[in-house]
Amino acid sequence: MNENPLLQGLNAELPPFPQIRPEHVLPALDTVLNESRAELKRLLQSEQAPTWQSLMQPMETMEERIGRVWGPVSHLNSVCDSDALRPIHQQCLMKLTAYQAELAQNEALYAAIKALREGPEFARLADDQQQMIEYALRDFRLSGAELPKEKKARFTEIQMRLSELGSTFEQHVLDATRAFELVIGDEADLAGLPETIRQAAEQRAREEGKEGWLFTLDAPSYIPFMQYAENRALRQRMYTAFVSRASEGELDNSPIITEILALRQQAAAMLGFRHYGDYSLATKMAGSTDEVIGFLRELAQKTRPMADQELEELRAFATDKLGLERLEAWDITYASEHLRQKKYAYSQQDLKPYFPEDQVLAGLFAVAGRLYGIRIRARDDVPVWHEDVRFFEIFDTNDEKIAAFYLDPYARAHKRGGAWMDECISRWRRPDGSLQLPVAYLVCNFDAPVGKTPALWTHDEVLTLFHEFGHGLHHMLTRVDTLGVSGIRGVPWDAVELPSQFMENFCWEQEALDLFARHYESGEPLPDALFDRMQAGRNFQSGMHMLRQIEFALFDFLLHSDFDPGGDTSVQALLDEVRREVAVVIPPAFNHFQNSFSHIFAGGYAAGYYSYKWAEVLSSDAFSAFEERAIFDPETAAEFRDHILAVGGSRDIMDAFVDFRGRKPSVDALLRHSGITVGP
Ligand code: ZN
Repeated sequence: MNENPLLQGLNAELPPFPQIRPEHVLPALDTVLNESRAELKRLLQSEQAPTWQSLMQPMETMEERIGRVWGPVSHLNSVCDSDALRPIHQQCLMKLTAYQAELAQNEALYAAIKALREGPEFARLADDQQQMIEYALRDFRLSGAELPKEKKARFTEIQMRLSELGSTFEQHVLDATRAFELVIGDEADLAGLPETIRQAAEQRAREEGKEGWLFTLDAPSYIPFMQYAENRALRQRMYTAFVSRASEGELDNSPIITEILALRQQAAAMLGFRHYGDYSLATKMAGSTDEVIGFLRELAQKTRPMADQELEELRAFATDKLGLERLEAWDITYASEHLRQKKYAYSQQDLKPYFPEDQVLAGLFAVAGRLYGIRIRARDDVPVWHEDVRFFEIFDTNDEKIAAFYLDPYARAHKRGGAWMDECISRWRRPDGSLQLPVAYLVCNFDAPVGKTPALWTHDEVLTLFHEFGHGLHHMLTRVDTLGVSGIRGVPWDAVELPSQFMENFCWEQEALDLFARHYESGEPLPDALFDRMQAGRNFQSGMHMLRQIEFALFDFLLHSDFDPGGDTSVQALLDEVRREVAVVIPPAFNHFQNSFSHIFAGGYAAGYYSYKWAEVLSSDAFSAFEERAIFDPETAAEFRDHILAVGGSRDIMDAFVDFRGRKPSVDALLRHSGITVGP
């Protein structure tokens, strides 16, 4: 009867991407939201004491139906942004936020779940079901369930406004990135740039109907330009455009930042938290503000001497060898790349011929296969959203299908930058007993094939792919049947990068690289000498890099815990202060990187950016368990799968880690992997 493809029902294997039109979106979302409202009302009118079956199971079904409509729409907005979809997406966000706020403030629902928690059935429920109930109650409290009536309304208003602001922030970044392009007409200005980069720029220009070579602020264009372009004035222009995105005119994010911070502070205070930092930690693995700030400062302090040395070396090199008397911000990437080449005599570009797309994918799948016994096979009869997208299925040791994923590898117009994994469908035991298998989206923005040359990726891009696939395995190898805690659901932000960063380690192991790093023309394996230099270069400037991440993390955390958005100190002043404390390189005054810091203003990393480093401690330490035995040790891999990947958010992550490692995490492995030696 209903021909809206988004309302195909719960049991569809995959979203019907080719059939989805912008006009389907709002009616479909309205339908599922209204159904859910009616269903919830019915559930809460019951005279019976709530049980898992009578309350939580129907709630799961409602959540899944909404996810089935919203998931593909949100995904399409990220990978195929269009003028038609954009305002609809925005409207949907408002409707969803309103719905979620209704749920969060539904006193009868809160009371029903509390009754379930306190009732006799609770003790008999499975661990993951109990965990989901605990999370639900916690989230109720964090969403203002205990607030008096008049405060609740204000709280909802704040949440809606924050959602809107985050979305606008991100849109400004996207528009500002798109608004800039550098068209080079004189080939002399390409001096220093490798041939593949020139070709890609030429193709980009052609696609836009322009003469010459076109460079943009998207990473695959921007980064190599900053690494290789000898023309210093053009590097300065690119750098200036990049770091001042969304900092002036209509796209200025500064007022949005101030409003976001003020509203977050207000909301946290309403719930009785000292500040947003404490609010954020209520759902994290880290215990307290002091613990987080102390952790970051300790890492900064241990890293500082090494970073100072690295900068000194870079300055001397830039002066002596490159004739750059004063090392400017737009010289750092360039000088670093040249220093890296001099010290290790290779560049990311030298490595690219050894990492053609098909081999990298086969290698990634082989690594996962050797670790977990899984097999991954391509399927080409699945409808996708773009011709470049591919689809794969995962089979377990007994050849049973357990999961699937889409891979959308290349950068293109109307696609959000960066790389990410997202849930398409989550593992779930449906009320009828059937099992829904998890499906993931893996999205990257790598170079596409150019002419007859296959897509060749840098080692950094290979790392990115392994990273995102690690998130994918977390989502896809889950054995949890309860929707709210399966896969990455319910996993704290500061532990969610554990499986992804863990996978990166394999890109540094000869035994793993031997599986796939071969020259795309000659078939020669990665030469030993190149591998050795790559290894030696792994921790090139790792001190400076570590401090940069700590600078972001400390800025983020202090901004949300020790900063008054209405006070005399500006956001910029706080950032400057953090830089004075932590950074070895102080950027120019026009650097307003915070205005495009989507992680904390449009993503989920507010007062949580430290999570990257926190999770690196976990992932380094987890990998060291493999180093102690063998990197493909099946027993260790089975334990990692059982204790970490399979459990999702169904148990306390610190307990899970201790079960795997036999002890609490230690920072030693991270410092060792980063080449940072700590004095006695
Ligand atoms: Zn990640």
